[in-house]
Amino acid sequence: MGVREKFFSADTYRNVEGILGIVKDGLCHRCGACIGVCPVGTFGIDEHAYPKQVDKCIECNICVRVCPGLAVDYPALGEALFPGRYEFGSLMGPVLSTWVAHAGEPDIRRRGASGGVITQLLVHWLETGRIKGALVTVEDPEEPSRGKGIIARTREDILRSAQSRYCTAPSFSALYDIRDEEGPFAVVGLPCQIHALRKRQRMDPRWKKRIPMAIGLLCHYNLPFESTRASGRMLAPKGERLAHANFRQRDERGWPHNTLELTFTDGSKWRSPYGPAQIFNIVSRVSPLGRCLMCLDAAAEFSDFSIGDPWIRDEKGLWKYDEPGGWSSVLVRTPEAEQWLREAEQAGKLTMKPVPPAEVERGQHAMMIEKKQRTAFRLRLRKRFGRPVPDYPMPLPGTSAEQKRKEMAFWLTRILPMFPWLARLALRIGLSPFGGYFVRRRMRARQRAAASGKYLVSASDFGDARERKSG
Ligand SMILES: Cc1cc2nc3c(=O)[nH]c(=O)nc-3n(C[C@H](O)[C@H](O)[C@H](O)COP(=O)(O)OP(=O)(O)OC[C@H]3O[C@@H](n4cnc5c(N)ncnc54)[C@H](O)[C@@H]3O)c2cc1C
Ligand code: SF4
Ligand code: SF4
Ligand code: SF4
Repeated sequence: MGVREKFFSADTYRNVEGILGIVKDGLCHRCGACIGVCPVGTFGIDEHAYPKQVDKCIECNICVRVCPGLAVDYPALGEALFPGRYEFGSLMGPVLSTWVAHAGEPDIRRRGASGGVITQLLVHWLETGRIKGALVTVEDPEEPSRGKGIIARTREDILRSAQSRYCTAPSFSALYDIRDEEGPFAVVGLPCQIHALRKRQRMDPRWKKRIPMAIGLLCHYNLPFESTRASGRMLAPKGERLAHANFRQRDERGWPHNTLELTFTDGSKWRSPYGPAQIFNIVSRVSPLGRCLMCLDAAAEFSDFSIGDPWIRDEKGLWKYDEPGGWSSVLVRTPEAEQWLREAEQAGKLTMKPVPPAEVERGQHAMMIEKKQRTAFRLRLRKRFGRPVPDYPMPLPGTSAEQKRKEMAFWLTRILPMFPWLARLALRIGLSPFGGYFVRRRMRARQRAAASGKYLVSASDFGDARERKSG
């Protein structure tokens, strides 16, 4: 039996044991979907945010068929959603138009991770009766270093969900709460969560009616919540615990100058010593990124529209959309999304500026190429060594020599999470003013490289990479 058959024959993973096997084989990214789609509530969430059995199973196998950790048939999902428009391998997926946009209400814009577009749209759709509610992610009150899914049915609940939570969040478990409702609901999810939704909708069209709008977030990696918890423990005053984690606290300069802010039970706060979002560059180095390293979707290719940061630099190497209020970049994929967004714009709830797709792609190039080329390289190697890999039934992209070199360098950093004491030491140094000095130096070097015109300097929430311009 070949490696592929060993891990992916339909009978290998079935029902509740199948899901537990997916977790055991390291294929689960803790999206929560199996918990949310099980018709009889077989699963709860364990202390590590994985599914755990809490009730009997009726052996319908829906959970396994929906699980995006086990398998994603990109061409089939793409063809079903975008007939004749989907081609696996393009970095951004199919787009009808691309924009930078921000919320119309200044308070929502300020609260948002980027330009507050998602929060503004959800509030507007709720208040105009377009949706009955939305599946969003908020801080888990029982474990502030991780996220939790809720069905937000009020403006207040939607406002609570503004901001990115760069941590494990099995939010799609909240699908369970709307299993008997007609909708319409919107969902906000990471690309893997959108995969789960689309797989469920293909199996049962009632889910399409229930959820007519899926908003996807661009995603490089997510950080395991254990990393935030470890940082909190390391930085908490003696005898105190982490009370809140705000992953993108803006400073007085506004977007994109945001940073990780941890609040402890005595009310004291710790802020990372870096400027824009570089904290993730450090924390991701010491985190086991697990299933995220086998993920091919950077752009939430199967969403109605995707949202990210406009990490786009000008000719001086500075952020082109550096405005304190912030902007989001928006990749519109379906005619329904185009219509819903335009209506919000006409109602004065959104400011939208068209930008060429190539500009959006240029800003995210390093991240997107990694998700396709370097992931493909990892998957090929894992298969060769007989390690479990997700079932992606399409030819994977090739990997250029440059991307292979980058991947080798990345592997050196993968040594850190293998030795907890080394990871703790690296985290301590990385989070100190000393680490801050190096990060700032690196960022200045990136800006100079971008200004020289010789390099494409593209970014993600997790860093910022230099690529030599071709031609
Ligand atoms: C783990 C992660 C990785 C990301 N990586 C990138 C990247 O590499 N490049 C890039 O350009 N953008 C990335 N983003 C998206 C970016 O951080 C912003 O979320 C996006 O620009 C939307 O901004 P906004 O102001 O319009 O959204 P807001 O109005 O602030 O709304 C944010 C929405 O995100 C949802 N959300 C927050 N955390 C999570 C979570 N963990 N899981 C599911 N939903 C969540 C909330 O429910 C909320 O509805 C990432 C986001 C996350 C959560
Ligand atoms: S009842 Fe169906 S969905 Fe629920 S655990 Fe069993 S097989 Fe999975
Ligand atoms: S559906 Fe999500 S949470 Fe459940 S096993 Fe698959 S990846 Fe993990
Ligand atoms: S990298 Fe992929 S698997 Fe990981 S959180 Fe993002 S979309 Fe999900």
